[in-house]
Amino acid sequence: MEFDLINCYFAPLGLSQSSEQAALDGTDIGIGDDGAVLSVPAGKQLVVVTDTLVSGVHFPENTCAYDVAWKALAVNLSDLAAMAATPFAYSLGLSLPTECATNQDWMADFALGFADLVASTGLSIALIGGDTTRSKVLTLTVSAKGWVDYGQAILRSGAQEGDYIVVSGVLGEGALGLQVALHQIPMGLSAQQKQAALDYLNRPQPQLLLGELLSGVAHSAIDISDGLLQDLGHILKSSNKKQRLLGETKVLGAHIELDRLPLSAGMQALFAENENWAWPLSGGDDYQLCFTISAEALAPLLAVAQQNTIPLSVIGQINDRGKIEASLRGQPFALDAMLAGFQHF
Ligand code: ADP
Ligand code: MG
Repeated sequence: MEFDLINCYFAPLGLSQSSEQAALDGTDIGIGDDGAVLSVPAGKQLVVVTDTLVSGVHFPENTCAYDVAWKALAVNLSDLAAMAATPFAYSLGLSLPTECATNQDWMADFALGFADLVASTGLSIALIGGDTTRSKVLTLTVSAKGWVDYGQAILRSGAQEGDYIVVSGVLGEGALGLQVALHQIPMGLSAQQKQAALDYLNRPQPQLLLGELLSGVAHSAIDISDGLLQDLGHILKSSNKKQRLLGETKVLGAHIELDRLPLSAGMQALFAENENWAWPLSGGDDYQLCFTISAEALAPLLAVAQQNTIPLSVIGQINDRGKIEASLRGQPFALDAMLAGFQHF
Protein backbone atom coordinates (compact mmCIF):
# COMPACT_ATOMS: atom_id res chain seq x y z
CA MET A 1 0.00 0.00 0.00
CA GLU A 2 2.70 2.46 1.08
CA PHE A 3 4.78 1.51 -1.96
CA ASP A 4 1.78 1.77 -4.28
CA LEU A 5 1.28 5.34 -3.05
CA ILE A 6 4.92 6.16 -3.63
CA ASN A 7 5.03 4.60 -7.10
CA CYS A 8 1.69 5.94 -8.22
CA TYR A 9 1.67 9.48 -6.84
CA PHE A 10 5.15 10.49 -5.68
CA ALA A 11 7.58 8.90 -8.13
CA PRO A 12 6.06 10.92 -11.04
CA LEU A 13 6.94 14.12 -9.15
CA GLY A 14 10.57 13.00 -8.93
CA LEU A 15 13.61 13.09 -11.16
CA SER A 16 12.84 11.96 -14.69
CA GLN A 17 15.03 8.85 -14.37
CA SER A 18 14.36 5.92 -12.06
CA SER A 19 17.04 5.22 -9.46
CA GLU A 20 17.98 2.08 -11.42
CA GLN A 21 18.40 3.99 -14.70
CA ALA A 22 20.39 6.64 -12.84
CA ALA A 23 22.64 3.88 -11.48
CA LEU A 24 23.34 2.81 -15.06
CA ASP A 25 23.89 6.36 -16.28
CA GLY A 26 25.85 7.59 -13.27
CA THR A 27 23.45 10.53 -12.70
CA ASP A 28 21.70 11.86 -9.60
CA ILE A 29 19.43 9.48 -7.67
CA GLY A 30 16.03 10.46 -6.32
CA ILE A 31 13.13 8.34 -5.04
CA GLY A 32 13.67 4.60 -4.78
CA ASP A 33 16.82 4.00 -2.78
CA ASP A 34 17.66 4.54 0.88
CA GLY A 35 18.70 8.08 0.16
CA ALA A 36 18.90 10.61 -2.64
CA VAL A 37 22.29 11.30 -4.22
CA LEU A 38 22.72 14.80 -5.60
CA SER A 39 25.60 16.57 -7.32
CA VAL A 40 26.59 19.94 -5.90
CA PRO A 41 27.32 22.47 -8.67
CA ALA A 42 30.74 24.13 -8.44
CA GLY A 43 30.72 27.46 -6.63
CA LYS A 44 27.34 26.89 -4.98
CA GLN A 45 26.15 26.42 -1.43
CA LEU A 46 23.23 24.22 -0.48
CA VAL A 47 20.35 25.95 1.35
CA VAL A 48 18.03 23.58 3.24
CA VAL A 49 14.69 24.65 4.75
CA THR A 50 12.02 22.62 6.53
CA ASP A 51 8.44 23.38 7.47
CA THR A 52 5.78 21.18 9.04
CA LEU A 53 2.08 21.69 8.45
CA VAL A 54 -0.43 20.04 10.80
CA SER A 55 -4.10 19.84 9.89
CA GLY A 56 -6.15 22.05 12.19
CA VAL A 57 -3.07 24.04 13.24
CA HIS A 58 -1.52 25.36 10.01
CA PHE A 59 -4.53 24.94 7.77
CA PRO A 60 -8.24 24.47 8.49
CA GLU A 61 -9.28 20.80 8.56
CA ASN A 62 -11.58 21.29 5.57
CA THR A 63 -8.72 22.48 3.29
CA CYS A 64 -8.70 20.42 0.08
CA ALA A 65 -5.81 18.06 -0.75
CA TYR A 66 -4.59 20.25 -3.61
CA ASP A 67 -4.27 23.32 -1.39
CA VAL A 68 -2.63 21.37 1.44
CA ALA A 69 0.12 20.16 -0.90
CA TRP A 70 0.49 23.56 -2.58
CA LYS A 71 0.84 25.32 0.74
CA ALA A 72 3.26 22.80 2.26
CA LEU A 73 5.69 23.25 -0.62
CA ALA A 74 5.01 26.97 -1.10
CA VAL A 75 5.93 27.91 2.47
CA ASN A 76 9.24 26.09 1.99
CA LEU A 77 9.94 27.80 -1.33
CA SER A 78 9.13 31.09 0.40
CA ASP A 79 11.93 30.42 2.89
CA LEU A 80 14.32 29.71 0.01
CA ALA A 81 13.20 32.93 -1.74
CA ALA A 82 14.00 34.91 1.42
CA MET A 83 17.56 33.55 1.28
CA ALA A 84 17.88 34.25 -2.47
CA ALA A 85 18.28 30.53 -3.13
CA THR A 86 17.01 28.81 -6.28
CA PRO A 87 15.07 25.64 -5.41
CA PHE A 88 15.85 22.37 -7.17
CA ALA A 89 14.46 19.62 -4.93
CA TYR A 90 12.25 18.80 -1.97
CA SER A 91 11.51 15.87 0.27
CA LEU A 92 8.21 14.96 1.88
CA GLY A 93 7.54 13.42 5.28
CA LEU A 94 3.87 12.50 5.10
CA SER A 95 1.68 11.25 7.94
CA LEU A 96 -1.60 10.32 6.38
CA PRO A 97 -5.02 9.31 7.74
CA THR A 98 -6.26 6.07 6.16
CA GLU A 99 -9.25 7.82 4.59
CA CYS A 100 -6.89 10.03 2.59
CA ALA A 101 -4.47 7.22 1.61
CA THR A 102 -7.31 5.04 0.30
CA ASN A 103 -9.06 7.84 -1.58
CA GLN A 104 -7.63 7.97 -5.10
CA ASP A 105 -9.18 11.34 -5.86
CA TRP A 106 -7.68 12.82 -2.72
CA MET A 107 -4.23 11.41 -3.50
CA ALA A 108 -4.32 12.53 -7.14
CA ASP A 109 -5.42 16.01 -6.11
CA PHE A 110 -2.66 16.12 -3.51
CA ALA A 111 0.01 15.20 -6.06
CA LEU A 112 -1.42 17.76 -8.50
CA GLY A 113 -1.03 20.53 -5.90
CA PHE A 114 2.74 19.91 -5.84
CA ALA A 115 2.97 19.54 -9.63
CA ASP A 116 1.05 22.76 -10.34
CA LEU A 117 3.05 24.83 -7.88
CA VAL A 118 6.31 23.54 -9.35
CA ALA A 119 5.03 24.29 -12.87
CA SER A 120 4.08 27.83 -11.82
CA THR A 121 7.67 28.55 -10.78
CA GLY A 122 9.02 27.65 -14.23
CA LEU A 123 11.83 25.74 -12.48
CA SER A 124 12.70 22.04 -12.30
CA ILE A 125 12.04 21.12 -8.68
CA ALA A 126 11.99 17.37 -8.09
CA LEU A 127 10.59 15.36 -5.20
CA ILE A 128 13.67 13.38 -4.19
CA GLY A 129 12.42 11.28 -1.29
CA GLY A 130 10.57 11.19 1.96
CA ASP A 131 8.71 8.95 4.32
CA THR A 132 5.10 7.85 4.45
CA THR A 133 3.33 6.77 7.63
CA ARG A 134 -0.19 6.38 8.89
CA SER A 135 -1.54 8.91 11.37
CA LYS A 136 -4.85 10.19 12.70
CA VAL A 137 -3.93 13.77 11.90
CA LEU A 138 -2.76 14.76 8.43
CA THR A 139 0.77 16.13 8.90
CA LEU A 140 3.30 17.11 6.24
CA THR A 141 6.93 17.95 6.67
CA VAL A 142 8.44 19.31 3.50
CA SER A 143 12.12 20.10 3.26
CA ALA A 144 13.12 22.09 0.20
CA LYS A 145 16.65 22.38 -1.13
CA GLY A 146 18.09 25.25 -3.11
CA TRP A 147 21.40 26.49 -4.48
CA VAL A 148 22.91 29.86 -3.89
CA ASP A 149 26.18 31.27 -5.22
CA TYR A 150 28.87 30.79 -2.61
CA GLY A 151 28.53 33.44 0.12
CA GLN A 152 25.53 35.09 -1.53
CA ALA A 153 22.67 33.88 0.70
CA ILE A 154 20.73 36.84 2.11
CA LEU A 155 20.58 36.57 5.89
CA ARG A 156 18.44 38.13 8.59
CA SER A 157 21.51 39.57 10.25
CA GLY A 158 22.60 42.09 7.62
CA ALA A 159 20.36 45.10 8.34
CA GLN A 160 22.18 48.42 8.67
CA GLU A 161 21.24 51.81 10.05
CA GLY A 162 19.63 53.93 7.35
CA ASP A 163 18.42 50.92 5.31
CA TYR A 164 14.97 51.22 3.83
CA ILE A 165 12.47 48.53 4.85
CA VAL A 166 10.55 47.10 1.92
CA VAL A 167 7.79 44.49 1.65
CA SER A 168 6.30 42.71 -1.35
CA GLY A 169 2.62 42.19 -2.17
CA VAL A 170 -0.05 42.95 0.42
CA LEU A 171 -0.07 42.30 4.17
CA GLY A 172 -2.72 40.82 6.42
CA GLU A 173 -4.47 39.00 3.62
CA GLY A 174 -3.54 35.56 5.00
CA ALA A 175 -5.21 36.44 8.31
CA LEU A 176 -8.24 37.70 6.42
CA GLY A 177 -8.37 34.47 4.42
CA LEU A 178 -8.29 32.46 7.63
CA GLN A 179 -11.31 34.38 8.94
CA VAL A 180 -13.15 33.59 5.73
CA ALA A 181 -12.12 29.90 5.89
CA LEU A 182 -13.36 29.66 9.48
CA HIS A 183 -16.61 31.40 8.51
CA GLN A 184 -15.87 34.26 10.89
CA ILE A 185 -16.40 36.42 7.86
CA PRO A 186 -15.89 40.11 8.42
CA MET A 187 -18.83 42.20 7.28
CA GLY A 188 -18.42 44.36 4.23
CA LEU A 189 -16.38 42.01 2.01
CA SER A 190 -17.64 41.22 -1.49
CA ALA A 191 -17.76 37.59 -2.66
CA GLN A 192 -14.81 38.33 -4.91
CA GLN A 193 -12.78 39.81 -2.06
CA LYS A 194 -13.55 36.81 0.14
CA GLN A 195 -12.37 34.44 -2.58
CA ALA A 196 -9.20 36.48 -3.10
CA ALA A 197 -8.43 36.24 0.62
CA LEU A 198 -9.08 32.48 0.66
CA ASP A 199 -6.85 31.91 -2.37
CA TYR A 200 -4.14 33.99 -0.74
CA LEU A 201 -4.34 31.82 2.40
CA ASN A 202 -4.48 28.47 0.64
CA ARG A 203 -2.11 29.03 -2.26
CA PRO A 204 0.73 31.31 -1.20
CA GLN A 205 2.91 32.51 -4.08
CA PRO A 206 6.58 32.15 -3.10
CA GLN A 207 8.50 35.25 -4.15
CA LEU A 208 11.29 33.39 -5.93
CA LEU A 209 11.91 35.94 -8.67
CA LEU A 210 12.10 38.73 -6.12
CA GLY A 211 14.54 36.67 -4.04
CA GLU A 212 16.74 36.33 -7.10
CA LEU A 213 16.61 40.09 -7.75
CA LEU A 214 17.60 40.75 -4.13
CA SER A 215 20.74 38.63 -4.32
CA GLY A 216 23.76 40.87 -3.85
CA VAL A 217 21.40 43.85 -3.44
CA ALA A 218 19.45 43.55 -0.15
CA HIS A 219 21.28 43.72 3.18
CA SER A 220 18.83 41.43 4.99
CA ALA A 221 15.61 39.56 4.26
CA ILE A 222 12.98 37.32 5.83
CA ASP A 223 9.71 35.89 4.62
CA ILE A 224 6.68 37.11 6.54
CA SER A 225 4.99 34.04 7.99
CA ASP A 226 4.12 35.21 11.50
CA GLY A 227 3.22 38.85 10.92
CA LEU A 228 5.33 41.83 9.88
CA LEU A 229 6.16 42.99 13.42
CA GLN A 230 7.38 39.63 14.60
CA ASP A 231 9.38 38.93 11.45
CA LEU A 232 10.89 42.41 11.22
CA GLY A 233 11.72 41.87 14.91
CA HIS A 234 13.71 38.76 13.87
CA ILE A 235 15.72 40.88 11.42
CA LEU A 236 16.50 43.42 14.14
CA LYS A 237 17.39 40.82 16.75
CA SER A 238 19.68 38.93 14.41
CA SER A 239 21.26 42.09 13.00
CA ASN A 240 21.89 43.44 16.51
CA LYS A 241 23.54 40.19 17.51
CA LYS A 242 25.86 40.52 14.54
CA GLN A 243 26.54 44.18 15.36
CA ARG A 244 27.55 43.18 18.90
CA LEU A 245 29.91 40.54 17.49
CA LEU A 246 31.43 43.33 15.41
CA GLY A 247 31.91 45.39 18.60
CA GLU A 248 29.21 47.93 17.72
CA THR A 249 27.41 49.46 20.68
CA LYS A 250 24.42 51.04 19.01
CA VAL A 251 21.21 49.05 18.89
CA LEU A 252 19.24 48.96 15.65
CA GLY A 253 15.52 49.67 15.60
CA ALA A 254 12.93 50.35 12.94
CA HIS A 255 10.36 52.99 12.19
CA ILE A 256 7.42 52.06 10.01
CA GLU A 257 4.78 54.32 8.52
CA LEU A 258 1.47 52.51 8.72
CA ASP A 259 0.03 54.66 5.92
CA ARG A 260 2.49 52.92 3.59
CA LEU A 261 1.53 49.32 4.41
CA PRO A 262 0.18 47.61 1.27
CA LEU A 263 -3.43 46.47 1.79
CA SER A 264 -5.64 44.44 -0.55
CA ALA A 265 -8.92 45.83 -1.88
CA GLY A 266 -10.77 43.64 0.65
CA MET A 267 -8.66 44.91 3.52
CA GLN A 268 -9.16 48.50 2.39
CA ALA A 269 -12.91 47.93 2.39
CA LEU A 270 -12.70 46.66 5.98
CA PHE A 271 -10.47 49.55 6.97
CA ALA A 272 -13.07 51.99 5.71
CA GLU A 273 -15.24 50.68 8.59
CA ASN A 274 -12.60 49.86 11.18
CA GLU A 275 -8.82 50.27 10.95
CA ASN A 276 -7.70 47.02 12.52
CA TRP A 277 -3.92 47.27 12.25
CA ALA A 278 -3.45 43.90 13.93
CA TRP A 279 -4.26 42.26 10.59
CA PRO A 280 -1.43 43.68 8.47
CA LEU A 281 0.97 43.96 11.43
CA SER A 282 0.49 40.65 13.25
CA GLY A 283 -1.55 38.40 10.97
CA GLY A 284 0.15 35.17 9.89
CA ASP A 285 0.44 33.35 6.58
CA ASP A 286 1.31 36.20 4.21
CA TYR A 287 4.51 34.69 2.74
CA GLN A 288 5.65 38.00 1.36
CA LEU A 289 9.28 39.09 1.64
CA CYS A 290 10.42 41.82 4.01
CA PHE A 291 13.92 43.10 3.30
CA THR A 292 16.22 45.99 4.07
CA ILE A 293 18.27 47.77 1.45
CA SER A 294 20.64 50.74 1.24
CA ALA A 295 19.32 54.09 -0.01
CA GLU A 296 21.58 53.85 -3.11
CA ALA A 297 20.36 50.37 -4.08
CA LEU A 298 16.67 51.14 -3.56
CA ALA A 299 15.79 53.08 -6.72
CA PRO A 300 17.40 50.61 -9.17
CA LEU A 301 15.69 47.71 -7.40
CA LEU A 302 12.28 49.40 -7.50
CA ALA A 303 12.77 49.97 -11.23
CA VAL A 304 13.66 46.36 -11.99
CA ALA A 305 10.82 45.11 -9.75
CA GLN A 306 8.39 47.27 -11.69
CA GLN A 307 9.66 45.86 -14.99
CA ASN A 308 8.93 42.41 -13.59
CA THR A 309 5.51 43.52 -12.21
CA ILE A 310 6.51 42.69 -8.64
CA PRO A 311 4.64 45.05 -6.29
CA LEU A 312 6.94 46.51 -3.63
CA SER A 313 6.21 49.02 -0.87
CA VAL A 314 8.79 51.01 1.06
CA ILE A 315 7.30 51.05 4.56
CA GLY A 316 10.01 52.51 6.77
CA GLN A 317 13.63 52.71 7.75
CA ILE A 318 16.16 51.10 10.07
CA ASN A 319 17.43 53.46 12.78
CA ASP A 320 19.47 53.24 15.98
CA ARG A 321 16.60 53.51 18.45
CA GLY A 322 16.56 49.85 19.50
CA LYS A 323 12.91 48.97 18.92
CA ILE A 324 10.11 48.96 16.38
CA GLU A 325 8.10 52.18 16.34
CA ALA A 326 5.28 53.23 14.06
CA SER A 327 3.50 56.35 12.96
CA LEU A 328 0.12 56.91 11.38
CA ARG A 329 -0.79 60.10 9.53
CA GLY A 330 2.33 61.71 10.96
CA GLN A 331 1.47 60.87 14.59
CA PRO A 332 3.19 58.25 16.79
CA PHE A 333 1.21 54.99 16.94
CA ALA A 334 1.57 52.63 19.95
CA LEU A 335 2.42 49.10 18.83
CA ASP A 336 2.79 47.39 22.22
CA ALA A 337 -0.43 45.40 22.02
CA MET A 338 0.44 44.04 18.60
CA LEU A 339 4.06 43.05 19.03
CA ALA A 340 3.18 39.45 19.90
CA GLY A 341 2.55 37.76 16.50
CA PHE A 342 1.74 34.06 16.40
CA GLN A 343 3.58 31.70 18.72
CA HIS A 344 2.83 28.00 19.14
CA PHE A 345 3.78 27.82 22.83
P1 ADP B 1 13.31 3.25 3.95
O1 ADP B 1 12.54 2.12 4.55
O2 ADP B 1 14.65 2.87 3.43
O3 ADP B 1 13.32 4.48 4.80
P2 ADP B 1 10.96 3.76 2.46
O4 ADP B 1 10.42 2.41 2.25
O5 ADP B 1 10.39 4.59 3.56
O6 ADP B 1 12.52 3.67 2.62
O7 ADP B 1 10.84 4.59 1.10
C1 ADP B 1 11.16 4.02 -0.15
C2 ADP B 1 11.56 5.12 -1.10
O8 ADP B 1 10.42 5.97 -1.31
C3 ADP B 1 12.66 6.01 -0.58
O9 ADP B 1 13.48 6.39 -1.67
C4 ADP B 1 11.93 7.20 -0.03
O10 ADP B 1 12.73 8.38 -0.09
C5 ADP B 1 10.73 7.30 -0.94
N1 ADP B 1 9.54 7.88 -0.25
C6 ADP B 1 8.85 7.38 0.80
N2 ADP B 1 7.84 8.20 1.15
C7 ADP B 1 7.89 9.24 0.30
C8 ADP B 1 7.12 10.43 0.13
N3 ADP B 1 6.10 10.73 0.95
N4 ADP B 1 7.48 11.27 -0.85
C9 ADP B 1 8.52 10.98 -1.66
N5 ADP B 1 9.27 9.90 -1.58
C10 ADP B 1 8.97 9.02 -0.62
MG1 MG C 1 16.22 2.20 3.99
